[in-house]
Amino acid sequence: MRKRLLFAGIFFAAANYAQAQRTLIYCGKLIDGVSDATQEQATIIVEKNRITAVEKGYAKAQAGDKLIDLKNKTVLPGLTDMHVHIESETSRDQYLKRLSNNSADIAFEAQKHALTTLMAGFTAVRDLGGTGVNIALRNAINKGLVTGPRIFTAGQTIATTGGHGDPTNGLSNMYSVPDKVTDAIVDSPDEGRKAVRQRYKDGSDCIKITATGGVLSIAKSGKAPQFTENEISAIVQTAKDYGFHVAAHAHGTDGMKRALRAGVTTIEHGTYMDDEAIDLFKKMGAYYVPTIIAGRTAADSAKVPGYYHPFVRMKALEIGPLIQKTFEKAYKAGVKIAFGTDGGVYPHGKNAKEFEYMTEVGMPAMEAIKSATVIPALILGEQDNMGSITKGKYADIIATDENPLQNIKTLQNVTFVMKDGVVYKQ
Ligand SMILES: [Zn+2]
Repeated sequence: MRKRLLFAGIFFAAANYAQAQRTLIYCGKLIDGVSDATQEQATIIVEKNRITAVEKGYAKAQAGDKLIDLKNKTVLPGLTDMHVHIESETSRDQYLKRLSNNSADIAFEAQKHALTTLMAGFTAVRDLGGTGVNIALRNAINKGLVTGPRIFTAGQTIATTGGHGDPTNGLSNMYSVPDKVTDAIVDSPDEGRKAVRQRYKDGSDCIKITATGGVLSIAKSGKAPQFTENEISAIVQTAKDYGFHVAAHAHGTDGMKRALRAGVTTIEHGTYMDDEAIDLFKKMGAYYVPTIIAGRTAADSAKVPGYYHPFVRMKALEIGPLIQKTFEKAYKAGVKIAFGTDGGVYPHGKNAKEFEYMTEVGMPAMEAIKSATVIPALILGEQDNMGSITKGKYADIIATDENPLQNIKTLQNVTFVMKDGVVYKQ
């Protein structure tokens, strides 16, 4: 029996090798992520998990080809959200859950969020912090055990004592906290270096720090700087040794500038960005990841009595509504923008609402789409694999009923999803 199975396996592999089946995707309209114009009538040819050609018109099918007819749709590269927390989702009991959920509980919830995110057209995400289950989830998706987007994860956030991302904030000191949790907290350049090395050991893809206070932590200030510039420099330099880029959460101006001067790659939220910070963004070549939807959702939730801790409520009402204005100012000043939403702070799957908020204040739809396709691929070092519908890239392809250049809201209703050459929604 075993022998027969083995033989069948070899036969199957050989058959696969001999006739890599072609899939022809007929696109009524195509936004390829490179060109600034929509192309009319094109064919994408997919073999296994890669795009092997993009041709003008509807290419003639050969014997054995599989056809996907998207002649009445607009086809785009799969989207990437550069800021999600795939493990968690906003709810009244989110703080309690941190105490009651074990890793397995988190994993089941995370898997559901991952599926929802993929079905919304996001074929890749950068996860900016959780318990480390995000690493296991990435691996499980890559192995094909569960379904979700490609995940590039920071693993656990690196924070300072009492800082945004210190997982023990607000807890009674009668609870002992396991080392695995406290190694997310650093208070010197040396501890910063050690934490980066620990992320390498854990299997992270990038590094996330919390350079200032944040809205959702049980702590008073959402703005105060929480790392010294020396600490951030040590983290950024060590991250480079391991091929990591660094993402810095920052609302307040001082912490944001320290992070920019220390050479982080992306600033998340950026709420109180002033002109000097804008100059630093440009000088250092850093990207701004706005997360407008998160600010707006947190401000809305704060109006529901009892939804948040009083500290959080106060900060959410103050900081949340400001981000869209900051985005407008940054975009108009020429700061490079990467699409990111803080998925999980609002319900997963609604990520594409962000496009509406970006275009509402003046970003052209095509630029907004590029901020979620070619630009993330560049930041993630995946420019040879992701970000456009061109020869050689992964077959990460989505489609909408309307042309998003005419109606950006259509991205909130993605009707076709292919990831890695496999169709998940049609
Ligand atoms: Zn976040």
